Order: sequence, then structure tokens, then C-alpha cells
Amino acid sequence: MAEKYYKYVIVGGGVAGGYAAREFANLGLEPGELAIISKEAVAPYERPALSKAYLFPEGAARLPGFHVCVGSGGERLLPEWYTEKGIDLILDTEVVKADVASKTLTTTSGSVYKYGTAIVATGSTFIKLSDFGVPGADAHGIHYLREIKEADALIEAIKTKKEGVAVVVGGGYIGLELAAVLVLNKLKVTMVYPEPWCMPRLFTTDIASFYEGYYQAKGVTIVKGTVASGFETDEHGHVKVVKLKDGRELPADIVVVGVGARPVLAPFKGQLVEEKGGFKVDSFFKTNVPDVYAVGDVATFPLKLYGDIRRVEHVDHSRKSAIQAVQAIKAAEAGNTIPEYDYLPFFYSRSFDLSWQFYGDNVGDDVVFGRDNSTPKPKFGSYWIKDGKIVGAFLEGGSPEENKAIAKVAREQPAAPSKETLLAEGLDFALKNQ
Ligand SMILES: Cc1cc2nc3c(=O)[nH]c(=O)nc-3n(C[C@H](O)[C@H](O)[C@H](O)COP(=O)(O)OP(=O)(O)OC[C@H]3O[C@@H](n4cnc5c(N)ncnc54)[C@H](O)[C@@H]3O)c2cc1C
Repeated sequence: MAEKYYKYVIVGGGVAGGYAAREFANLGLEPGELAIISKEAVAPYERPALSKAYLFPEGAARLPGFHVCVGSGGERLLPEWYTEKGIDLILDTEVVKADVASKTLTTTSGSVYKYGTAIVATGSTFIKLSDFGVPGADAHGIHYLREIKEADALIEAIKTKKEGVAVVVGGGYIGLELAAVLVLNKLKVTMVYPEPWCMPRLFTTDIASFYEGYYQAKGVTIVKGTVASGFETDEHGHVKVVKLKDGRELPADIVVVGVGARPVLAPFKGQLVEEKGGFKVDSFFKTNVPDVYAVGDVATFPLKLYGDIRRVEHVDHSRKSAIQAVQAIKAAEAGNTIPEYDYLPFFYSRSFDLSWQFYGDNVGDDVVFGRDNSTPKPKFGSYWIKDGKIVGAFLEGGSPEENKAIAKVAREQPAAPSKETLLAEGLDFALKNQ
């Protein structure tokens, strides 16, 4: 099969892939210089929507077709946009082999592409219960969510099992967001997770107790401290019971599993230096191999603010890392340099009419302020204090200005006053710091 050459190839057409393409177009691109090779059958889109608006019962809120929401302000990059820019979108195509020595990529169909510069943007994939050998975990009706095809399958299941019973396995943000949309779709929902509270990687017990109470008030049953240890199926191989390790059994028409993700390194594995589960890059997202960059979920990068190197699986970083890599590539071509990546970790989630944002690092002591269950629209938050400085801040129900204020605190790391003062001032501490 004939080889095709592109000056730039982006491997993976997810969030980082889409943002990288847009940045190339912003900075100047000749037609035919850039290709995106993506396993998904649709052009890049904003992945977080898949566990939120895309699953709302009113279909109008769904992402229309394979339109792409890239960038702020609702800008939509349709496949036509790529055509206009002379970018080749090679969809429904998986890169199964990369050879960085010959700068060659081979796809499932055997097509071979050569590149001048490659950007690895292959993201993550979900961890399956069958990976842990849970019996029956391959039954029909057990869903995972990463890509649009899984979201579409879940929408179909919701339609078929109208007003049925759903079990959500996993208490992270995917589990919480999916439990909420299942309730909105009128299913009776039980959440199961082994930890003593939800979102344990970020939430403190105080923060989690608010969300657990809120979910319970919406009709969600929460079963903690145990795991799904098996599934029973009907005569058609469709799940009907979730067996728990503590002996309990939960009836289920639909099971949705969100037990974590792992980065997709396969086509480049063994050819790029790895660290902390991802491809090790510098502040410009360059790997150890010249002309190969890695961005988004697969990149382990220097987090300048903390003098550390980390891998981050959040959408804000996937967008910003893609932009940084493309700017670095274009600057290097022009003999210029750009400032180092200086990222402030940012993560958010939305469910029901709740919406929280977190900035910085959740290490050290925490001070939770403003917890008041009597207000209809809750607003509360938390600061994290390490070595006498505020290093992280969380806020539920914040306005754009308030969120900006907590972000500034996390970035600037002011000296923390006493816990009592911080507790009394709460959000005002961040607002007056503006
Ligand atoms: C349902 C869901 C909800 C989320 N919600 C939030 C949120 O609210 N807030 C937040 O901060 N983060 C959220 N995230 C995380 C965020 O979406 C990811 O961090 C982000 O998408 C990572 O971007 P990426 O480009 O690295 O990977 P992805 O967006 O996953 O894109 C990777 C792409 O590469 C393709 N690919 C993989 N391997 C190959 C191959 N070998 N050949 C060709 N193509 C390949 C994949 O098919 C995919 O299209 C959510 C994630 C999911 C799944």
C-alpha cells in the first residue's frame, strides 16, 4: 500500500487533537500539511459533554451529529472546517503501530503514513471490571463511557429500559455525573463504591457528605464499602443482578461502570520514555524522541508550580497542553522559543443543578467553609493549606468571579491565616485577595 506523507500528524482526534488542529490553523497551515488520525468515527468534540448534556432526556441538548464544540464561546468546528483548512481527518482509523525511527504510522487497514512531526494525543480508555476478573462482567447491559459510541449505546439502553433500575459502579466524578443523568432519565439508581465516601481522590469527608446527601435527596441509594463481585444474567445474557462482595444482591436493568481510566500508550509503547504512567515530556510537550510530542492524558509533564512532574487527566490541561505543543513546534520552526508550560491544575464537574470547580493541589490540611444545608442553592468551599500557604481551593456553586478568585488564591499561594480566620472569612478571603 502506498505511503502518504504529512508534515504534521496528530494521532488521536479527541479534545487535545481538536485543540492542536485549531492552533495549527491559527498559526498558519498550508493545505495538506496536517492530518488527524482518529479511532473515533466523528471529528473531535468536547468529551466532558458525554456524561452531561449529551445524555439529558431532552434530545435537543445533545451534541448535534458529529458537530464539534471546540473552544470557548460555543465555536463549532464541523468536519467542513477541517476541509476548508486543508486538514485531512482520517476517522474510524486506529494507529496500531508507530515506528519513531522511520517516522511511520501503520493503521488497522494497513495504510502507512509518514510524518515530519507527530503529536501523540491518544487519551485514556476505561478500566473494565473484566480486567479484574469479575465474573459475568462481559454481560449485555453493562456500560462504560469514554467515546461517543458508548454514550449512544447508553442512550439506547435508557430508551429500552425506561423507568427501570440502574446500578452505577464507582463513586468518582463519572459515577456521580452518570447517576445524576440516569435519575433525570427517570431510572431508579443505586451507586456502589468501596471507599467510605465519594470522589475520595479530591473530596474530603465533609465535602463528600454534602454531595451524598444531595444525591440521596434526589432518590439515589448509596451503598459504600463494598464492590461489585459478579453479575447474573437472564436467558439472553443480559445483566439482571449485581452481586456485591458483602453478599447483597441488587437487581439491575442497566449497569454503568466508572472505575477509572488508563492512558492509551500502545502504538508508541517501548519507543518513548515513560514516567508516572505516561510519556515523559518537557515543558513544551516534547518527548525524548525528536519530532514526537505527547499531549493531554498521555503526557507526564513538568508542573512548574510544584516543582514536580505529573500526568493530569482533565480537559483543561488537554486543551492547554495541545496549544502549548503546537506553539512550541511553530516557534521552533521560526527559530524562536516560547515560555515554559506553567499549569495551574483545574478540574470541574457538573450534575443536577450543582457545579463545582477545583484549582491547585489538594494536599495538607483542609478547611471547609460555608456548609449550610438550609439554602436552596448551596455555596460552600474548601481551602487546602500546606507549609503555611494556601495551595488548593474548591468551590461549589461559585459565580465566574468567585471561581476566578479561588483560582487566583491557588495560583498565588498566599500565607494562610489561622484556621479560625479562614473559616470565618470563607470565600471572602479569596474575594478580598483579588
Ligand atoms: C465521560 C467523560 C466526562 C469527562 N468530564 C470531565 C469534566 O467534567 N472535567 C474534566 O476536567 N475532565 C473531564 N473528562 C476528562 C477529559 O475529557 C479528558 O481528560 C480529555 O478528553 C483528554 O483529552 P485527550 O485528547 O488526551 O484524550 P481524548 O479526548 O480521550 O481523545 C483521545 C482520542 O484518541 C483516539 N485514539 C486512541 N488511540 C488511538 C489510536 N491508536 N489511533 C487513533 N486514534 C486513537 C481516541 O479514540 C480518542 O478519540 C471527562 C472524560 C470522560 C470520558
